[in-house]
Amino acid sequence: TILHNLPTQDLQALDAAHHMHPFTDGAELAAKGARVITRAKGVMLQDSEGVDILDGMAGLWCVNIGYGREELANAAHAQMQQLPYYNTFFQTSHPPVIALSQKLAELAPGDLNHVFYASGGSEANDTNLRLVRHYWATKGKPDKKVIIARKNGYHGSTVGAASLGGMSGMHAQGGLPIPDIVHIDQPYWWGEGGDMSPEEFGLARARQLEAMIHEVGPDNVAAFIAEPVQGAGGVIVAPDTYWPEIQRICDDYDILLIADEVITGFGRTGNWFGSQTYDIRPDIITTAKGLSSGYMPIGASILSDEVAQVIDHGGDFNHGYTYSGHPVACAVALENLRILQEEQIIEKAAADTIPYLTEKWAQLADHPLVGETVNKGLMAGLALTPDKAARAKFASDPGTVGFRCRERCFANGLIMRHVGDRMIIAPPLIISRDEIDTLFERAVQSLDETLSGLKTDGMMVAA
Ligand code: PLP
Repeated sequence: TILHNLPTQDLQALDAAHHMHPFTDGAELAAKGARVITRAKGVMLQDSEGVDILDGMAGLWCVNIGYGREELANAAHAQMQQLPYYNTFFQTSHPPVIALSQKLAELAPGDLNHVFYASGGSEANDTNLRLVRHYWATKGKPDKKVIIARKNGYHGSTVGAASLGGMSGMHAQGGLPIPDIVHIDQPYWWGEGGDMSPEEFGLARARQLEAMIHEVGPDNVAAFIAEPVQGAGGVIVAPDTYWPEIQRICDDYDILLIADEVITGFGRTGNWFGSQTYDIRPDIITTAKGLSSGYMPIGASILSDEVAQVIDHGGDFNHGYTYSGHPVACAVALENLRILQEEQIIEKAAADTIPYLTEKWAQLADHPLVGETVNKGLMAGLALTPDKAARAKFASDPGTVGFRCRERCFANGLIMRHVGDRMIIAPPLIISRDEIDTLFERAVQSLDETLSGLKTDGMMVAA
């Protein structure tokens, strides 16, 4: 049974007894009890107490078309009845995976026409890691195997993906990163730009890639991987000078560019792909999340003609997952893409709600607790600060203030995530103007309450 009628405390007790949560302090959670979410519709969640919560994070940046679309349930139901599972190993295929691959080739930019499937973003990045090394080895350059990534980047939680990521807290557990992955600094101007203008800083950070290529030796570098906008790192939007310079460097040194679009894919930045927003030409795009709007687990690496051709002529690529191209996940993803396309969800957001949210989000910079505000499409971040003129950080442990703000949001019926002392949102793409108004009312109230709590506790102090 699915425990629909159990009281909240009983659900919480069972949860604490048997369920290990990702990225969670288990003892802290056990003392407090999880908030149990039981249903959802549109942009609204409901918890086990019947309280409505506006989901400012679209789950984990994935429910792009919003909750409760029956068409997706019907697609899953029909596919489960027809063919619930078959694999794509050893020269077999099935209609849903063929149709989805064709659709992705049509939607993805440039000549990204070939799709390798996974169950999520981490697995897709593990595919990329092995694939780019195999690509260069097949081309007779086995030494070209180092992958350059970024500090504070997030590419997933498997050993490979977490090594590509630059999260120090993750590297500290389990002996990461694995060899031949190196990291350069992130293009976070507000936090790290010092006296430089954003333009100068963007160029300086991009040129760290060139410096690292020289340090490692161009003949040893396989690829550079980055998120068009760093998501889990706190919605870090690079200055405008950054991406053109990165593209130039990848071209000049014959380095494959992997755009990790697990968050930015399928509309988040106002275009189908973040690569289009930044006018970059990746050789590989990683996708997951918005591909199925989170209704089924699925991820995909989308490869250029050239990369796919080399791999296809390199003999067996000894890699794959039981659920690579899972028929039910593919059928659901296809239905999700049909809805995104036919209802012009991305185009409508770009024309209407993105400009509206952009304007309102920028106004939050007037709040005494808020330093930088940034957004790219429907992903936005702001820095909490005790002194905005000085771009100062709090003296308390990083994340203390962010967590307080997140808790106020939670109490006020809004999911806003904190990354250290930054607050971030990425609501479903179907969020309406009225819902954006509600989001802002709740956010401002939560910021006000956080500020007054900090003042009471004497914490409006810079480091
Ligand atoms: N890449 C990026 C940019 C992500 O944001 C995430 C998840 O948040 C991943 C990869 C990992 O995806 P998954 O959690 O589906 O394995």
